[in-house]
Amino acid sequence: MDPILIIGAGIVGLTLGQALKQVPPLNPDPIPVLTEAENIPFVILERDPSPNFRGQGWAITLHWALPYMQQLLPETILSAIQSTQVDPETALNDNGNFLFLNLATGEPKCKIPPSLRWRVNREKMRGVLLDGIEESICWGNRVVGVDAGAGEDGVSVILHDGRQVKGKMVVGVEGSRSIVRQMLRPDAYRNTVLPVRFTGVSVELTSEEIVPLRTMDPLLFQGCQPDTGVFFWFSVLEIPRVHGGRYRAQICMSWLVKGLQLDMRSRRIKYEYYVGIYLSSPQSCTEHISLAT
Ligand SMILES: Cc1cc2nc3c(=O)[nH]c(=O)nc-3n(C[C@H](O)[C@H](O)[C@H](O)COP(=O)(O)OP(=O)(O)OC[C@H]3O[C@@H](n4cnc5c(N)ncnc54)[C@H](O)[C@@H]3O)c2cc1C
Repeated sequence: MDPILIIGAGIVGLTLGQALKQVPPLNPDPIPVLTEAENIPFVILERDPSPNFRGQGWAITLHWALPYMQQLLPETILSAIQSTQVDPETALNDNGNFLFLNLATGEPKCKIPPSLRWRVNREKMRGVLLDGIEESICWGNRVVGVDAGAGEDGVSVILHDGRQVKGKMVVGVEGSRSIVRQMLRPDAYRNTVLPVRFTGVSVELTSEEIVPLRTMDPLLFQGCQPDTGVFFWFSVLEIPRVHGGRYRAQICMSWLVKGLQLDMRSRRIKYEYYVGIYLSSPQSCTEHISLAT
């Protein structure tokens, strides 16, 4: 059987690969005892030349997708993902709140109802998802096209160097600039560019400095200032008990292009303003953000 061609070794492509590794082919009759090699074959085509070619981001929250991942992934992978949580202790009693503040008042604007969530280190989680399927991943293979006319029973993808790979079907999970989406919806594949600018930094904080922020929510919160449209995001990236030393937190901000023209210095001042609302000492967080950040 030709393999299923998965384009992109991101979190979704790897999750699918892990799931296919568990699943026997559909409707086998009679149901055979399968060896691993007889499971549904798949190949993951990834443009990056290696797993560590570029940083894999900060932290990501798994919430609505979590029940699906729990259905798809084996227990060993799930518990390995769970162990990549940014704050395992908070995770034990986490109420899964998503808090959104009115930054003009500091009051909650809404609280998205609690649900199960895992806030995990994205790079470590991706590393876990690679485990056991490395041999099915073809690094350094950028897909530039799909040929759906490769025969009644298949499809081909075209690689950057002109080679073609034939498969049973193609799953395009290659992120926001998907080639597959472009092929399927040539009229509507483009991303809509919002008139918004965004910047984010990671900062190190002492246990005392982070208290006011973690009092709002132990893992993350966000907010918006109604009159300017400035958006603010805080989340914990590392805690001392797990990583030694200080806390590391992610602080992001976005603003409307029309409303504010911010150079680097102005961005820093804005950070100071918003972070200062939540910290006992307004300078204590932003002094860790260098102007070159
Ligand atoms: C490097 C990175 C860091 C991120 N960091 C965070 C974070 O810290 N917090 C957060 O909440 N979200 C983060 N995100 C976004 C979030 O992780 C994604 O929304 C989510 O992972 C979507 O998963 P995905 O597998 O569909 O796509 P992606 O994670 O975007 O993965 C797509 C993969 O496809 C590959 N690819 C793209 N085009 C081609 C092609 N033509 N041929 C072959 N391969 C191709 C890419 O190299 C990538 O590996 C990050 C995304 C990336 C790519």
